[in-house]
Amino acid sequence: MKQPKQCEFPGCEEEAYARGLCRGHYQQHNRGHAARPLRQEGERLKKDALAELNLVLTRKAREKAMRPADFIDQVRRAVEAL
Ligand SMILES: [Zn+2]
Repeated sequence: MKQPKQCEFPGCEEEAYARGLCRGHYQQHNRGHAARPLRQEGERLKKDALAELNLVLTRKAREKAMRPADFIDQVRRAVEAL
């Protein structure tokens, strides 16, 4: 059976819409907003750290016009280091 591709944002289970991101996270990236979990899930501490991290990365992405793939890669690597 063919599985729909999932959003590449860490912890997001939405179906991918464009560039490996779900509709919500793709729009967040396009608008230059801080990417953040769309759904409330456990691990509050990790979530807060992730939100903080995304603010920093989004700022960087805006300055350097970072590609979504690089943006995701950096977020993922940072999350794994938490
Ligand atoms: Zn997503």
